[in-house]
Amino acid sequence: MSNGAKPKGGIEPLASPLLARDAKRVGMASSWGSFLQDEQQLEELARQAVDRALAEGVLLRTTQEPSSSNVVSYAPFTLFPSLVPSALLEQAYAVQMDFNLLVDAVSQNAAFLEQTLSSTIKRDTFTARLFDIYKQVLKEGIAQTVFLGLNRSDYMFQRNADGSPALKQIEINTISASFGGLASRTPAVHRHVLNVLGKTKEAARILSNNPSKGLALGIAKAWELYGSAKALVLLIAQEKERNVFDQRAIENELLARNIRVIRRRFEDVSEKGSLDQDRKLFLDGQEIAVVYFRDGYMPSQYNQQNWEARLLLERSCSVKCPDIATQLAGTKKVQQELSRVGVLEVLLPDQPEAVARLRATFAGLYSLDLGEEGDQAIAEALAAPNRFVLKPQREGGGNNLYGEEMVQTLERLKDSEERASYILMEKIEPEPFGNCLLRPGCPVRVVQCISELGIFGVYVRQGKTLVMNKHVGHLLRTKATEHADGGVVAGVAVLDNPYPV
Ligand code: ADP
Ligand code: MG
Repeated sequence: MSNGAKPKGGIEPLASPLLARDAKRVGMASSWGSFLQDEQQLEELARQAVDRALAEGVLLRTTQEPSSSNVVSYAPFTLFPSLVPSALLEQAYAVQMDFNLLVDAVSQNAAFLEQTLSSTIKRDTFTARLFDIYKQVLKEGIAQTVFLGLNRSDYMFQRNADGSPALKQIEINTISASFGGLASRTPAVHRHVLNVLGKTKEAARILSNNPSKGLALGIAKAWELYGSAKALVLLIAQEKERNVFDQRAIENELLARNIRVIRRRFEDVSEKGSLDQDRKLFLDGQEIAVVYFRDGYMPSQYNQQNWEARLLLERSCSVKCPDIATQLAGTKKVQQELSRVGVLEVLLPDQPEAVARLRATFAGLYSLDLGEEGDQAIAEALAAPNRFVLKPQREGGGNNLYGEEMVQTLERLKDSEERASYILMEKIEPEPFGNCLLRPGCPVRVVQCISELGIFGVYVRQGKTLVMNKHVGHLLRTKATEHADGGVVAGVAVLDNPYPV
C-alpha cells in the first residue's frame, strides 16, 4: 500500500567481499552464509534470483509510469528465506480464526465502536469521517445481509525473559490487506536460489503458499450467498496502482470460477453508480454483488466526490469487503482498547480458549486519552522513548513516530485533546539477522534485518450465521533494522519466505 513514504536513508554495506565469516558476523543464518564463497558468487546468485522473480511474476509497476503502463520491475525481495521458529508460525496460524471472530464481533458491536472511538473522532478528522458514514448507515438500517472479512494479522518475534521466542501482534489489517497474490509466487524464487546452491533438501522445506486463492474463495462465497448469477464483483482500485499484479491474482482466481470482476475508481462510482429501491447497487447498468476495496484506507485517497461514493457503496446491499464497521474495527484505537483487561471476555463470551490465544499475542498498548492513565503512559514514553512507538489512526506505512520525533510530538500534544487521536505501543525488538535485500537498481549486500509475519484470514457471515472462518496463507516481509517503519510499496520492507526451524 503506497502512501509515497520514502525510506529514511540508504543501506550501508556491511561486508565486502562477503565471505562466510562476514555473513556469520552479521548473524546471517549460518547455513546460508556458509554456502557463499565470495562476492562474485553472491552477485551471480542474486542475478539468477531476480530472473526467476521476473519469470514468476513477482512484479510491481514502476513508479514513473501511469497505471495503464506495461513497464514493470520485480517487487523487492530477500535473496534467502529467513528463519522463523515453526512453533511461532503454528501459533500465528492457530490464532487467526480467533482474530477473524474478534473482528467480526467488534464490527457488530455499535456500542463498543462508539465508546472506543469517541475521543479519537473528536480530533482525527479521517476516522471521524468514516464514523460519520457508519452512523448514517446504522440510522438508515444496514441493507447488506452477507458480510465478508479478508484480513491480515501481522506479528514480530521477540524473546521472552526466559529466552523463548514469542509472537507479538503489530496490527491487524481489515482493509486492502495486500501481497496475498505476490506471496504465492515467491516460494518458487527461494527454492530456485537454494537449488542453485545444490541445497535441494533445504529448498523442499520452503512452504507452499497461496493466499490469493483463499481470499478469492471468500469473495466467491460472498458472491454466491448474495444470490444473483449475473451480478459482478467490483474492485475499487487506485488511479495509479503499482501493486496491480497482486490484485490481478485474486481477479484471475475469480474469473476461473466464472465470477466476473470489474476494476473501477471511486470517481467512476460517483459518476455512474446508483441504488434501486431495494438498495441494490448498479454500476454501468450492471448489478454489483461484492465490493472489494483496494483503496479508501487513507485520507489522501478521498476527496468530497470519493466520500460520497463511499457512502453510496455503504448504503447498498452489496457485500462490502470491508463494510465501514469492519474498517473501523481495524483502527489502532480499537486494537488498544481490545488489550484492556476484560474487554475480550465481553466481546467473545464463553470462549476462554480463544481469549487466551488472542491475549498471548498482545504487546503493551496504552490509551493516550486525557486523564491519569494517559498521563502515566506519556510519562513512561518520555522517560524511555526507545521502548515505545507512537501511532496515529493511519494505514499504509510511514505514519508512526519513534525516538526523538515521538518525544517532540508527545511534548507538543501532552496537554491537548489531540493526543487521543494517537495510541502508544510497546516497541517490539526482534533479534536481527543477516540477509540480502534485492531491489531494482541497488547493489547486492548483506545487511542486518528483522522480519514481520502476516497471516491472511477469511470469514463470511450470513445474517447471524458464520459460514466460513479460515486462515488462507502467510506473508513474510523483511526490512533493514535501520528503518523503524515498514511497507513494501513504501520502499522499506521486501518480500520474503519463512524457513521453518
Ligand atoms: P501501518 O498501518 O502503517 O502498516 P503498523 O502498525 O503496521 O502500521 O506499523 C508500520 C510498521 O512499523 C510495521 O510494519 C513495523 O515495521 C513497525 N512497527 C509498528 N509497530 C511496531 C512495534 N510495536 N514495534 C516495532 N515495530 C513496529
Ligand atoms: Mg502494518
